Amino acid sequence: MFFLLIKMWMDEAKYLNDCYVREFETEVLDVNDKFVVLKETFFYPNSGGQPHDLGYLINENGDRFDVVFVAKLDEHISHEVDKTGLKKGMKVKCFIDWDRRYQLMRIHSAMHVLSGFIFQELGVIVGGNNIDLDKSRVDFILENFDRDLFYNLVEKANEFIKNSVEIKKYILLRDEAMKDESLFRLTKDLPENLDRIRVVEIDGFDKQACGGTHLNNVDEIGRIELLKLENKGKNNRRMYFTVI
Ligand SMILES: [Zn+2]
Repeated sequence: MFFLLIKMWMDEAKYLNDCYVREFETEVLDVNDKFVVLKETFFYPNSGGQPHDLGYLINENGDRFDVVFVAKLDEHISHEVDKTGLKKGMKVKCFIDWDRRYQLMRIHSAMHVLSGFIFQELGVIVGGNNIDLDKSRVDFILENFDRDLFYNLVEKANEFIKNSVEIKKYILLRDEAMKDESLFRLTKDLPENLDRIRVVEIDGFDKQACGGTHLNNVDEIGRIELLKLENKGKNNRRMYFTVI
C-alpha cells in the first residue's frame, strides 16, 4: 500500500520532467482548509535541502490565492494558500514565482558542480548541504584546511561552468539505479519504497539521484562565489557559497 502512495506524488510532480514551466493550468483534486492538492503540479515542495516554491493560483472567478508553502504530505504534494475558498474540481491557473525558483535552480546546479569537484579533487563526499537564496552550504570531512585549496577548487568549478554542458534529468527503475552506488553520494534517507529514482546528470562530469529542480545547462549558473569557510571542529569543513 505504502508503495503505491509513494508513486502518487511522483506522478503529480511534473517539475521532475520539466523544470522550466512557470505557468500551468490544472484542477483542484482535494482541499482541506488552506491546504490544496492539485491534479498535477510544477510547484516544488520543500525537500532534499531545496526550499519550496512560492507563487499563486487563480480560480475560475478570478480570485487569487497566494501559495505560501509547499510540502510532500502523506502521498500528495500539498500547497498551503493564504485563504480558504478553493473547492474540489475547480479549474485553476497557477503561477510560480520564477525569479525565486530560477535562482534556486542555479544554486542547486552549482551545488552539484561543487560537490562533484570536492569528490574528484579532494576525494571526499559532501555529507550535508543546504540550499538558500542568499547563502548555501556544503559540509564535508577533510583533514586539510588550506583555504587556497578551497578557493582553487571554486575557481576550477567556475572555469567548468563557462562551458556549455548539458544537465540531463531522467528516471531509472530503483533496481537499475541501485547498481550504481556513486549515484547516491548526495542522497540522505532515500525512501525505502520509492520504486523509481530520478537522476540528474551533468553530462560527462557527475550524476546523482536527486529530486530537485535543475538548469538545462551549466552555463546558466553564472559564477559561483565562495562566501565563507568554517572549521566545524575536528576535520569538519563547511563552505558557504552563492551564485552571482
Ligand atoms: Zn540535488
